[in-house]
Amino acid sequence: MSLTRRQFVTGGIGATAASVLACRGGDASPIEGEYDLLVIGSSFAGLPIALRAAQRGLRTLVVEAGGFPGRWFAGEPAMLPFTSSGAVDYPANAARMIAVGGASNHWEGAVNRMRPSDFRLRSEFGLDVDWPLSYDELEPYYCRAERDLSVRGSAAVVDAEPARSCAYPRAPDAGYRPPNVEIDGRRLRYFPLARSVRGDGPVRLVDREVEAFASSSAGTLASGHQTTRLVTLDGRRIDHALVRSADGSERQVFAKRIVLAAGVLESARLLLLSRSRWFPNGLGNARDLVGRYFTVHPTLRWQFTPPSLGRLFDGAPQALSNRTYDYADEFRRRGLNAAHFQLRVFRDESIILKHQPEIEARGANRVTLSTAETDRFGDPVADLALGWSPRDLATKWAGEDVLAATVEALGGHPDTVDKSEKWRFHPSGTLRMGFDANTGVVDRNLKVFGVENLFVSGACVFPTAGTANPTETIVALAHRLADHLLRG
Ligand SMILES: Cc1cc2nc3c(=O)[nH]c(=O)nc-3n(C[C@H](O)[C@H](O)[C@H](O)COP(=O)(O)OP(=O)(O)OC[C@H]3O[C@@H](n4cnc5c(N)ncnc54)[C@H](O)[C@@H]3O)c2cc1C
Repeated sequence: MSLTRRQFVTGGIGATAASVLACRGGDASPIEGEYDLLVIGSSFAGLPIALRAAQRGLRTLVVEAGGFPGRWFAGEPAMLPFTSSGAVDYPANAARMIAVGGASNHWEGAVNRMRPSDFRLRSEFGLDVDWPLSYDELEPYYCRAERDLSVRGSAAVVDAEPARSCAYPRAPDAGYRPPNVEIDGRRLRYFPLARSVRGDGPVRLVDREVEAFASSSAGTLASGHQTTRLVTLDGRRIDHALVRSADGSERQVFAKRIVLAAGVLESARLLLLSRSRWFPNGLGNARDLVGRYFTVHPTLRWQFTPPSLGRLFDGAPQALSNRTYDYADEFRRRGLNAAHFQLRVFRDESIILKHQPEIEARGANRVTLSTAETDRFGDPVADLALGWSPRDLATKWAGEDVLAATVEALGGHPDTVDKSEKWRFHPSGTLRMGFDANTGVVDRNLKVFGVENLFVSGACVFPTAGTANPTETIVALAHRLADHLLRG
């Protein structure tokens, strides 16, 4: 990496040896000044927007709380601690990384799109809410996200995946054959799980995009700087952000427009912390919606070795992850949450089956400001209250039935299977997108209701979790927002 000092500012929060080296020698340059765009957070939700704005010549500042990755586990997750007050403890710090590039530094790269019905839960199934935008509106942006994420996939199994207007950017693995699983006389439609592939792993933003941003003449990245408040002077627009470095020194950053892309917990916390006489309960929180409708993907994982793989494949076994959505809408029609099911074959011929459901989007699952703990600057940390609803539990039991039927279809017995429950690190919700200010924190263009120049990017705007892993949708929404900002 050849980074110049001008474009990188380090402030010491989480500044690793790598970040100091990247800064080549030195002193933190001032980040005060007036920017066209301030982006808070340097991962999948923020960086695509910052990069496009800077390439367009807009003076763009990215403020990132973490340092450059390399030794990021040395205390950095503790930098943004949180408390947990619900019935279920979610390990939120395993799901994020306070570093330049955020969780892109350690994500696994499994990508897929939401399905059209994921956007229409209320109108199609009478569940939760609809999104204020449709799959068709997002579809071109999914193509763009797949290019960014360098996705290898195969649309080989007709109707198994949502309709698409572009080919996958990377050629599929040759000769894919879906596994042959029949339950109650119906053959499941599996498709190969698409993956982000660049070099020997998935796309990691620090490898390319961070440098592209910082080396553009209009882009500045301030790592090791935490945004602690968004300040309005008239109750209509954000005048400036307060940004702190590790020594506690505080700076004012002025920007015409601001994109908040700090992840699901921290984005909500920042709005709750940014109280003023116009917003006594937090910015954009006139209807007490900020922080609510947090969702995750709790996952069942069953591992076993079937007596023979002969009945699974026509020909040699393929060591691949396969996914099916065949039960997704069927579950919803039964008043349950949708799920996808996964079947992965390993070279030792063992099999892992997974059930990954969405959970019900409920206002009671929420982020608030902790009354028990403060961060290094004396601000309350995020508190997460999470619990399961009767629908969530019924969905889990229905998922176990499908897993048991799959084991039996492969010649195994459910009692002999190694069963565990895992988290997929896919938090979403807290600043949901809505049709109006009574139903959402942001509108369909991701602008905070009631604030002229504040936008939100990331899974925090998802009204419901859907069945897909979130990152492709996060990047697609980021590009849609970039189009909106660059038009305006
Ligand atoms: C182990 C693991 C595996 C995963 N695998 C997959 C997968 O296979 N497929 C998939 O789709 N998704 C996967 N994910 C999820 C994926 O990583 C996230 O969806 C994605 O990173 C979210 O991007 P983001 O920009 O919204 O948030 P983040 O990546 O969390 O980035 C937020 C950034 O904001 C910064 N920040 C926070 N607060 C502040 C502040 N106040 N001021 C300044 N900066 C701040 C943080 O330091 C961070 O860099 C995985 C996640 C993990 C942890």
